Amino acid sequence: MEDKWISDRNKIIGLGENSLRKSYYPELQNKIEELEASRKNLDAIINSTSDGIIIHDISGNILFLNKPAELLLNAELSDNLTVMDISAAQNDIDILSDIWNKVRNKNTQTIEWIVLQNKTRKEIPVQISINNTFWNGLDVFVAVIRDFTVRKEYEKKLLEAKKKAEESDHLKTAFLQNMSHEIRTPMNSIIGFSELLSDSDLLPEKRKKFTSIIIDNANQLLSIVNDILTISTLQTKQDKVYLESININQVLSDLLIIYEKQAFSRHLSIQLHRALSDKESVVFTDKTKIIQILTNLLNNAFKFIHEGSIEFGYRLIDADMVFYVTDSGIGISEEMQTIIFERFMQASDFVMSNYGGNGLGLAISKEFVDLLGGKIWVESDVNKGSTFYFSIKYLPVNKEPY
Ligand code: ADP
Repeated sequence: MEDKWISDRNKIIGLGENSLRKSYYPELQNKIEELEASRKNLDAIINSTSDGIIIHDISGNILFLNKPAELLLNAELSDNLTVMDISAAQNDIDILSDIWNKVRNKNTQTIEWIVLQNKTRKEIPVQISINNTFWNGLDVFVAVIRDFTVRKEYEKKLLEAKKKAEESDHLKTAFLQNMSHEIRTPMNSIIGFSELLSDSDLLPEKRKKFTSIIIDNANQLLSIVNDILTISTLQTKQDKVYLESININQVLSDLLIIYEKQAFSRHLSIQLHRALSDKESVVFTDKTKIIQILTNLLNNAFKFIHEGSIEFGYRLIDADMVFYVTDSGIGISEEMQTIIFERFMQASDFVMSNYGGNGLGLAISKEFVDLLGGKIWVESDVNKGSTFYFSIKYLPVNKEPY
C-alpha cells in the first residue's frame, strides 16, 4: 500500500525516485506531505479502535479490514473473502439482504451475528452496526464489529441465574403449599383429639389411645419444624462439624432397638450389619449428624416400603466407612435419583400426595455428608427397592493392632 502511494506520488510530481527532495514544485510537495500526514493520522485512528471495521461492496466482497477486524476474523484482505465466508452456518444469510436494503434507505442497522474466523474456523458472537456510504467511488457498506464473547457469557450466566431463581421461587411456593398440608394434618389431629379428651365420660382406654395419637402428631410437628430449622441453618452456613469419639456399633444397635418395634408392628423384617468389632468401630465423627442421616434414611425406608425387609449397617471400603440402608420398597426412577437430593424435591406428585413428606430429609442428609467430607448416593430399581449409601473417612480412635 505504502509503496504504491510513493510511486503514485512520484508519478504525479514526474521526477522519479526521491523526487520529494529534488522537487521543483514546493507547493505541490507541501500538499503531498500534508496529505501523507493526514492519511497516517486517519490510519492510526482507524486501526486504534477496539471495534473491527469492515468495508464490503453490495455483493458482500470485502474491500477493507482495519487491524482489529483482521485480528477478530483471523483474516487479511489478500484472503479475498466475502461476508458469507465469515458468517457461521447458523446465521440466516437472507436476513443480511433484508438488513442491507434497510441500510441503503439510510437506516443504520445493528444486529447480533456469529462470525467465523477465517483460519481457525472459530465462531465468535459479535454485534455489528452497518452503514451505507460511498468509498473510493463505490457504493459500499461499512460494518463496525464488536466482540460479544464476554457479554454473551454474562448473558448466559444471567439467564441461568434467572432460571434458577424462578425454579427456586416455584419450589418454595410448592414447598409452602406442601408444608401447610404437612403441618395442618398433625395439627388437626391434635386439636380434634384434644377436644375429645375433654369429655369427662371418656373410658380410660380411649383416653390413653387419644393421648398417644396427640403425642405422635405433636412429635411429627416437631420433626417438621426441626427440619425447617436445620435447612435454614445449613443455608446460612452456620452449621459446623463437631468431632467426638463415638462407638458406631453402639449407635447402630440403639437405632435397631427403636426401629425393630416399627418393623414388628408392620410385619417387616429388619437386619443390622456391623463390619467391625466394637473396639474398631470407635471413631472420630459428628455423632448428631450421623444419627440424623441414618434416621432420615431409615424413616424413608419405612415410609416407602409395603412389605419385605430393611437392612442397614456399614462396610469398610479402603479408608472409608460406607453406611447403607436398603429397603424392598417402591424404588426410585433413574431420572429422579439425582434430583431427590435437592431441597424440597420429591420423586413425583404421586409420591407427594400419597406418602406426604416435606422433601427436606435427603437434602439435609446430603448437606451433612458434604460437611463430613463424604458422599451420598442411591442405587434403586422401581418396584424392587432402594439402597442409599453415604461414606465418611474412617478415623479410628483405637489405633493399635487388634
Ligand atoms: P420426604 O420428606 O418427601 O420423604 P426426602 O428428602 O427424605 O423427603 O425424600 C425425597 C424424595 O425421595 C421422597 O419424596 C421420595 O420420592 C424419594 N425417596 C427417598 N427415599 C426413598 C426410598 N427409600 N424409596 C423410595 N423413594 C424414596
